Amino acid sequence: MDEPSPLEIEIRRRITAAGPMPVGEYMALCLDDPEHGYYTTRDPLGARGDFITAPEISQMFGELIGLWMAAVWKQMGAPENIRIIELGPGRGTLMNDALRAVQVMPGFRDAIALHLVEISPALEALQERKLEHLGAPMSWHPALANVPTGPAIIIANEFFDALPVNQAVKTEHGWHEREIEIDMAGNLAFTLANDPIAHFDMLLPAAVREAPERSIFEWRDGRAAMDLGQRIADNGGAALVIDYGHAETFVGETLQAVGQHAYADPLTAPGNIDLTAHVDFQALGRAVEAMGANGYGPLDQSEFLQRLGIETRAAKLKAAAASRAAATEIDLALARLIGHDRTAMGTLFKAASYAHPSLGAPPGFE
Ligand code: SAH
Repeated sequence: MDEPSPLEIEIRRRITAAGPMPVGEYMALCLDDPEHGYYTTRDPLGARGDFITAPEISQMFGELIGLWMAAVWKQMGAPENIRIIELGPGRGTLMNDALRAVQVMPGFRDAIALHLVEISPALEALQERKLEHLGAPMSWHPALANVPTGPAIIIANEFFDALPVNQAVKTEHGWHEREIEIDMAGNLAFTLANDPIAHFDMLLPAAVREAPERSIFEWRDGRAAMDLGQRIADNGGAALVIDYGHAETFVGETLQAVGQHAYADPLTAPGNIDLTAHVDFQALGRAVEAMGANGYGPLDQSEFLQRLGIETRAAKLKAAAASRAAATEIDLALARLIGHDRTAMGTLFKAASYAHPSLGAPPGFE
């Protein structure tokens, strides 16, 4: 057996002292622990990293989002100052491509102050290096609530799936929270809380309430979604959220662990593997809209990118490609972003937008 990671030692210490640990608490420690968390200690993206995201697949993704932001800014009446806020900017690739695409619109370009919400010092350094050439004022914040008020356009690609998810399992006595214990053999293992969660059924949509026994239900704390909705309702502007997930709340386990581009066991190597779970867009929308923003979508990523003109953009890039191989790369990237098979992102990923009620439907969501 491998040596336990420093985070595993800490998790075992806590379970021994305080009893089984809820899945959400485990996931939060694995990802965000300031000393040993997955995101706080490394750059997980890219070819040699653990996973690859849409902006890392092709420049087209960020460019189209840049044009989307410019169109929203116009819808807002082209304010002289606009905060562009990105939640979880990764390597800064999306924002770099987006802002490069809008250099031809000096009015918008000059209005921008960039605000990046990031917990990883390693990624923050990468973002700074990648984006400083754009000349826009930039600042970093630990959470959206720390970004100064003012009209904003908010972008979040693969951010919400990285926020901790809680799980409950249905038994004949009700829904029991799923927890992590140390089993008889001394390994970390899933277990259930002894008592059901009181009145949990009342909070659930009918389809979930009536699920068969042993069903797993996942939910997130709504704070991040409510902060987003509150900000839009109070300050104006719009948000674009793209992530993998489902349009409607349902039962089923989606928590998954990935390391080095391969699926892993979520309970081995805590802190050294990525943990994510699908975004429940219905629950996200409910939380954002409860704060006074209007929700649009979700649409399949394929539909959204096609409405923004990804095929035209791909054709243009291909026409300018330096070689046959470069043109083929563009075709492959396009297929990956809007394709529908299991390895592509077109249907697995969804796009939703949340806007101030005065704005109307954002581009792509009309
Ligand atoms: N948007 C990027 C990166 C996605 S990975 C892309 O599409 O390539 C998730 C990003 O969110 C990383 O930058 C990670 O460090 C950041 N992140 C994860 N949890 C966070 C949290 N709780 N607060 C702020 N940033 C977080």
